[in-house]
Amino acid sequence: MIPVAVMGAAGRMGRRVVAQVLDAPDLQLVAAIGRPGPSVGVDAGLLAGREPAGVPVTTLADGLGASAVVVDFSLPAGTSSLLDLLEGRALVSGTTGFDATGLDAIAARARVAPVLHAANFSTGVAMLLALARIAASSLPDWDVEIVEAHHRMKHDAPSGTALAVGRAVAEARGVSLDEVREDGRSGVTGPRAPGAIGLHALRIGGIVGQHELWIGSPDEHLILGHTAGSRDVFAAGAVRAARWIAGREPGAYGMSDVLGLGPR
Ligand code: NAD
Repeated sequence: MIPVAVMGAAGRMGRRVVAQVLDAPDLQLVAAIGRPGPSVGVDAGLLAGREPAGVPVTTLADGLGASAVVVDFSLPAGTSSLLDLLEGRALVSGTTGFDATGLDAIAARARVAPVLHAANFSTGVAMLLALARIAASSLPDWDVEIVEAHHRMKHDAPSGTALAVGRAVAEARGVSLDEVREDGRSGVTGPRAPGAIGLHALRIGGIVGQHELWIGSPDEHLILGHTAGSRDVFAAGAVRAARWIAGREPGAYGMSDVLGLGPR
């Protein structure tokens, strides 16, 4: 049995991860971490819609129990606090919205322990990233625009997945996303800058996650799209990653490693 702690256990994603850890015969939920508030002390299994698990939600101050792997879906500040407490544990984190300092801290952690930080744990998005690389390098002059849509409560924009698609395109073309990105458009924009990568975020209702890569020449365009039907898709990927990363060497891993899809 792999002992697992879930960080952000009372959140939308955390509850789905807790449910899937409890359902897995080879994983054991040993800690469920939340922010100080009403969910602390509540049984994590009940919060996740399962039978009582005998694991109450606690806070980071109470530690990470006897976990070997921590699965984190929280907020950047939560992940940053978590990094200091991990000791030898492996980390699977789906949290998005980090600034450069936050990403550096995760990269530093990956030099001493196994870390899988992915903006999206779905198999379909891992394939979208692989297809984005092929399209971007095979069609180097075509314009690229990335459109994402999410539920109205999402904290960050554009989504971590949209940025990951943008980085995949930029890397395939040998440029940095930050040099070529154009976030939204408004006013008298003039003609499109050659090589620009447009990023557009819609926030509406309850959409779990939708991403489209538009790539086009003056005469035709192609749209590669992915729609997540439920948060269980991401939770299943995170649980699969937790199983895969237990006992690995230190390093920064991605879902493409877990799924055997080649380089990230
Ligand atoms: P949410 O707001 O429903 O849940 C976040 C939870 O983290 C909350 O319960 C909050 O109390 C907890 N938290 C925040 N800071 C904390 C701290 N300092 N200590 C302890 N707990 C803390 O959000 P969500 O929709 O579950 O999304 C969580 C994160 O996961 C977001 O960054 C989101 O973008 C990302 N996400 C990633 C994927 C993926 O596949 N990688 C999929 C969906 C969402």
